[in-house]
Amino acid sequence: MGSAVGLCSSPRAWGCDWNIARLLCFAAISWVLMTQMEVGAWTYHYGDKSDYSWEVARNFCRSFYTDLVAIQNQREIAYLNSVLPHHRTYYWIGIRKINNVWTWVGTSKALTKEAENWASREPNNKGRNQDCVEMYIKRDNDAGRWNDERCQKKKRALCYQASCQSSSCSQRGDCVETIGNYTCDCYPGFYGLECEHAVKCPALAAPGRGGLNCTHWHGDFTYNSSCAFSCETGFVRNGSETLECTALGQWTGLPPLCEAIKCPMLDSLSRGQLNCSHWHGDFMYNSTCSFSCETGFVRIGSETLECTALGQWTGSPPLCEALKCPVLATPGRGQLNCTNWHGDFTYNSTCAFSCETGFVRNGSETLECTALGQWTGHPPHCEAVKCPVLDSPDRGQLNCTHRHGDFTYNSTCAFSCETGFVRNGSETLECTALGQWTGHPPRCEAVKCPVLDSPDRGQLNCTHRHGDFTYNSTCAFSCEMGFVRNGSETLECTALGQWTGHPPRCEAVKCPVLDSPDRGQLNCTHRHGDFTYNSTCAFSCETGFVRNGSETLECTALGQWTEHPPRCEAVKCPVLDSPGRGQLKCTHWHGDFTYNSTCAFSCETGFVRNGSEMLECTALGQWSDHPPLCEVMRCPKLRGLEPILMNCSHPLGSFSYGSVCRFRCTQGYFLNGTSRVRCQPDAHWSDKMPTCQEEAAPYFKQVLLYMGGGAVALVALLLTGMLIALLIKRLSDKEEEKTLLNPTSDLGVTGVFTNATFDSNL
Ligand code: CA
Repeated sequence: MGSAVGLCSSPRAWGCDWNIARLLCFAAISWVLMTQMEVGAWTYHYGDKSDYSWEVARNFCRSFYTDLVAIQNQREIAYLNSVLPHHRTYYWIGIRKINNVWTWVGTSKALTKEAENWASREPNNKGRNQDCVEMYIKRDNDAGRWNDERCQKKKRALCYQASCQSSSCSQRGDCVETIGNYTCDCYPGFYGLECEHAVKCPALAAPGRGGLNCTHWHGDFTYNSSCAFSCETGFVRNGSETLECTALGQWTGLPPLCEAIKCPMLDSLSRGQLNCSHWHGDFMYNSTCSFSCETGFVRIGSETLECTALGQWTGSPPLCEALKCPVLATPGRGQLNCTNWHGDFTYNSTCAFSCETGFVRNGSETLECTALGQWTGHPPHCEAVKCPVLDSPDRGQLNCTHRHGDFTYNSTCAFSCETGFVRNGSETLECTALGQWTGHPPRCEAVKCPVLDSPDRGQLNCTHRHGDFTYNSTCAFSCEMGFVRNGSETLECTALGQWTGHPPRCEAVKCPVLDSPDRGQLNCTHRHGDFTYNSTCAFSCETGFVRNGSETLECTALGQWTEHPPRCEAVKCPVLDSPGRGQLKCTHWHGDFTYNSTCAFSCETGFVRNGSEMLECTALGQWSDHPPLCEVMRCPKLRGLEPILMNCSHPLGSFSYGSVCRFRCTQGYFLNGTSRVRCQPDAHWSDKMPTCQEEAAPYFKQVLLYMGGGAVALVALLLTGMLIALLIKRLSDKEEEKTLLNPTSDLGVTGVFTNATFDSNL
């Protein structure tokens, strides 16, 4: 039994076009015979011969009708409930649990919630396996509603049958069940009672550069004809590949065009140019484009691209890359600061170099990458700042640590000095970032010994090898004339700053010690010490003594005195002789007639000492007085005045011891007394002087005498000068004689010894 093709059994009607189906079904149902019978329209049928399990019931329906009832709505249910007879086991309908889902078996569609029509408290799956559905008909309650039941239970099969066949309507339209017949509701594109005609579309032609391949189902270029368009290699269809003729007689679109395949549009290169030749349109199949780059840029990639049939260029567009200069490395101890316009280290990149503190750039500050891919110069180096090269100090050593090169930034130099030398200045210098050392290099100065002075009275003669009085200086000491060195002749300054010994002294040469002379004194002046060089000693003698020898001695440089020391000898007085008519008796203490010698004088009889009895030799070398004379004893001088005439002899002196005077009187007078007197040793005359007594006029005599004097003078003038002198003398003596006549007159000591005999006659 073929299945009916009808609106209600159409898959499209089930569950979606419920209203239409309901109307049609309802109409069909109204023609149902309530018993098993053949009807040429959609009808309900039920088996009234026996009951079947659900599977058998379905086979029954599908064998004799179309299938178990599947169309369901409330009115239809109500209708079925009203027209079907009550049956004790009720009726199977076409719903079954498949995979635990209630499913319309005719369409294998799940039962929707809206379409459920379960009886109260159903489905309850009582006793399990209640996988099939029955419909209560004319039940006391829940009539027309569903109940799940085990499928093995036996119930009546409730079937339906459609009147349309599969071949109805030329299979080009829906077969619509009508009462006992059907009509064709032609599908679009078809028309005619049995939909035997197809709608025509305009004929199509192949496009330029392309082809056309059509498939006609119902005739050339009719409904459902489909035409596929193709294009030659390098061309592509612009439009649908396939056009189909629609039910309205129109193609589903415009016929496509074969257009040259388009390659992606190429843009001018950044920093480059594009030069294309287009054969079929811009950037279409077979277009060729060549690329070039600006100065400073180089093409990376193909020079020429061609648009292939695949719409692809034969390669990727090249890039204009800036020419690369060699990559610059950051200089050691420096920094690199680049400004890149087109990429690192490329054309027009400028790189500035800077150096760390303590380093200076040797080379250009800035380099630029040229269009030739070369830098404008060589990259500079950061070279450590240089400090002046240091030399080892004289007499020292230099030990440097160079971190960045000889005598450059951060170099440190330590100075040390040889033995005997000490560093004057910093031990360590460091080269600063300014290229200067942190200080002046120290010098190695010879260790200093205490400055030596020339010794007093000496000289110092030093040889300084490294500076005055420093290490290795040697000093020789010498002394002035008259001085000798006491100590080392030579000292040397050691590395410890000490002399090898104490400086010597110059001590004055010593002369023998002098003692005071006997009877004398010593008075020394010592300039350099007792009895040493240049000491001078003056000798002096006691009173009465005189120095025999140099007064002064001097100690010479040879340690000898300039002379022998003098002696003090007693002062000498003149040698005294015994006086005439006397004797001398001396006592000498220090030598004949020397200081303190005393001499006593004595005179013979008739002589008297005129002077000191005792003389002493004084310190002056003189006698304490004029040595005395032994003078003859004098008697009073006698004067023979006229008329006395006196004639004396003076053997020892005038009127002295031994003198004898003889008297006489002039004429007219006579002598009264002794005519002779002798001077005795006691200075007395042996007798009184006599007198002359006048016999005649004395006055006359006197006058005569006076006048006679004048006359004598006159005569003398007339005679000779000698006579004059004698006359004067004579007169003078006369005057004296007058005085001597007086015995009381002073005799004085002026007399001279004379032996002349005075002639009173003259
Ligand atoms: Ca049940």
